[in-house]
Amino acid sequence: MPESLKLAGMSAERQAVRTTCPYCGVGCGVLVECEGDRYKIGGDPEHPANYGRLCSKGASLGETLSLEDRLLHPEIGGRQASWGEALGLVAAKFSGVIREHGPDAVAFYVSGQLLTEDYYVANKLMKGFIGSGNIDTNSRLCMSSAVAGHKRAFGADTVPACYEDLELADLVVLAGSNAAWAHPVLFQRIAAAKQARPEMKVVVIDPRRTATCDIADLHLAIQPGSDAWLFNGLLNHLKREDAIAWAYLEAHVEGFGEALKAVNGLSIPAVARHCGLAETDVAEFYRLFAQTPKTVTLFSQGINQSSSGVDKVNSIINVHLATGRVGLPGATPFSITGQPNAMGGREVGGLANQLAAHMDFVPRHIERVARFWNAANMAQQPGLKAVDMFKAVRDGRIKAIWIMATNPVVSMPEADRVAEALKACEFVVVSDTTRHTDTAQLAHVLLPAAAWGEKDGTVTNSERRISRQRAFLPPPGEARPDWWIVSEVARRMGFAAGFDYSGPDAIFREHAALSAFENGGGRDFSLAGLADLTANEYATLMPVQWPLASKHKASARRLFADGKFFTPTGKARMLAITPRAPARATDDALPFVFNTGRIRDQWHTMTRTGKAARLLAHIDEPYVEMHSQDALRLGIRNGALARIRNRNGEMLARVAISDGQRPGSLFAPIHWNAQFTGKGRCGALVNAVTDPISGQPEFKHAPVAIEAFAAAWQGFVISREEFACGDYAYWARVRGSGCWRYELAGAEAVADWQAIMRKAFGRQGDWIELKDGAARRYRAALLHDGRLMAVCFIERDAALLPKRQWLASLFEKEALSELERIALLSGRPPGADSDCGRIVCACFGVGENALRKAIAKGADSVEALGIKLKAGGNCGSCVPELRKLLTETAANSEVRKQPIAAN
Ligand code: SF4
Repeated sequence: MPESLKLAGMSAERQAVRTTCPYCGVGCGVLVECEGDRYKIGGDPEHPANYGRLCSKGASLGETLSLEDRLLHPEIGGRQASWGEALGLVAAKFSGVIREHGPDAVAFYVSGQLLTEDYYVANKLMKGFIGSGNIDTNSRLCMSSAVAGHKRAFGADTVPACYEDLELADLVVLAGSNAAWAHPVLFQRIAAAKQARPEMKVVVIDPRRTATCDIADLHLAIQPGSDAWLFNGLLNHLKREDAIAWAYLEAHVEGFGEALKAVNGLSIPAVARHCGLAETDVAEFYRLFAQTPKTVTLFSQGINQSSSGVDKVNSIINVHLATGRVGLPGATPFSITGQPNAMGGREVGGLANQLAAHMDFVPRHIERVARFWNAANMAQQPGLKAVDMFKAVRDGRIKAIWIMATNPVVSMPEADRVAEALKACEFVVVSDTTRHTDTAQLAHVLLPAAAWGEKDGTVTNSERRISRQRAFLPPPGEARPDWWIVSEVARRMGFAAGFDYSGPDAIFREHAALSAFENGGGRDFSLAGLADLTANEYATLMPVQWPLASKHKASARRLFADGKFFTPTGKARMLAITPRAPARATDDALPFVFNTGRIRDQWHTMTRTGKAARLLAHIDEPYVEMHSQDALRLGIRNGALARIRNRNGEMLARVAISDGQRPGSLFAPIHWNAQFTGKGRCGALVNAVTDPISGQPEFKHAPVAIEAFAAAWQGFVISREEFACGDYAYWARVRGSGCWRYELAGAEAVADWQAIMRKAFGRQGDWIELKDGAARRYRAALLHDGRLMAVCFIERDAALLPKRQWLASLFEKEALSELERIALLSGRPPGADSDCGRIVCACFGVGENALRKAIAKGADSVEALGIKLKAGGNCGSCVPELRKLLTETAANSEVRKQPIAAN
């Protein structure tokens, strides 16, 4: 076992490994207790990001360790190959394309899931030895606008803040961030701080009313895309109210004259009009911001994922510079990243327009990096950013692409065109942990990569904190770490001297040394203090923030408190921002704004979280959220299926009516892919339009149309074995405990369900069936020796279908009772209805019905629900939903208490 420790009370065989969660940019520390082949996973109480907390995703990591659908061996054209053959082919093909067409005819598309060491060697191979800038990362899709905004304002991609600032602030502004679901542990830290200091204020700026609004004193349900108007108006308000830190501006900031001129006269009524807000709400936000020196503005994808994302970022930084609130305890702008190692990718140059160690494509940096690497063929200019990279694949300029640890056929905008591009590409290599992803299906060569728990290296979280990911499992089959795979290809391409690494510690030392190389303090990113770590020091490295200029100095928790920045003048820059509308406007044909984002219990394209049944219990199908007025107008019912479409493609999803949605707007989650549903990839609808500076796509604003899906029938199959359902117009696959559930619908009647079921599950065993052709009803169950093997329920009217929970629970039994057998085709349990409803608390499997019953019986607080049902008592991710249920139930009982008006 690698770096491990013995905790108090542990036996010699029982050890714990400190590692880091592989999901979001909070970067929580994880403690894995290992005993034999059993692993208990919990939060690391000593990790400064989470102090022992984990959200529902992190708490379920142990359920995602199975080898189901793991890619275990290299494959060429679908057949198993040796590592030697596969690596040789990749090296030969890439070398051949480069020889014939030049280095810009090849590309790497990499990922914020890679460890820093993996990222470093991939970037070094492409930019230093192949000689092209064509390496870009899926982090382009989540935070490249923040990178560009930081560079414009601070002269470097520097996050000035740390998590503690969120607890020290008197006002936290969450702009374009549903932290309650996307960064749950950070949200819990803010919520706990607010509970301890109720005078602390929270403002949420988001077109949707999300779970994050649970702790908001003020929610600004802003017109999609209008953020820059709001912050420009704030800048003007600060000037008018004499809340500008003029002495700070004079000493430390340039460009403020132009920035202030650009917002001159932008009144609160004008802002309210542009943003679709009440004037009083705008005025209240401005008053809070102007009067609260300790203000943190936390911003995320809602700001970044825009065709004017960089300007939005700078409009936020402008108001912080204008008030001198940058890098101070509890007073700072704070960009939070989506992925676990988006920051690490930024550090090593994983973005096509950056060099390693936060250096740029300018002659002196190119020469310096080339000299440090002894690079054979240093790239001289930036490469293609993600959207342009896949356009180049599509039109044949890029002839060979290597995709590492990511799934662009799901996650990229205009995802169907990305699939077409890869189908047409001469040579596609995918290195990943999962055998069947939408992208892996289009690869010529598959390379098995080590997964979380099997690989060793570092990641950097949103507060610049570097933590170790440590292995506690051997890699299965022939899986190998990504750094090893890339280095082996590099050696076979003739670059052995540059890639002769003994392990991730050697790569990390080189990465740290490059950050310190000829860095007299003019570059923000420095790991000089870690450049000579021994292997043992690397193995035992505790979480540490950068910059760390010397091993004898403490690392910097915050930056810029001294007012010195990384621009040539040493001054920060305020930018004159002219707000721009989203790139594509709605029209009569496409009248809705389509917004995308994450849900609480899933991660990216579900390749890992989709393995945990309890993470699918919260939300189990792709859905589209819409306002009740729109639903009423279009005749779309809650829970029905709807088709969402535009000129790029279409999506089929279950409708969730929510008045937290703005009329005219729709929201869908980003996670569903072709392995879990037929047409649930929202990326198919997103336009490939990007910010002109950052290249970040506009994931929050695609014009679409929506209509009810005219289902001739709907139903579901629950079975122990997988069911082939790919031919139905709508299908969604849901993992259960000991079973799979398939939600199905079709536009045309199916002639013979009995034949379909017999074909799928065989003729052996006891079939119980009920058929009514006129009602298009078919109900069937198959038992073997009293053990339930499969059920199928089909109805013309979906409202007649029973709830799934009881039926699914029968698959956990070895044999059904006589009463259960009799009740099977009714779909309802014999006796009292034990349906606990939609799962709200994933940790303890507590459903909505059970919670409502408990509330009706007097449980009137989150704490009381915790005592009664345990709900919310573990990771706390469901607490906002518990509060919402409490509020709804209280509101309903108030309505019931109103006396009936006399006529
Ligand atoms: Fe992992 Fe959740 Fe922590 Fe994010 S908040 S790092 S997903 S445990």
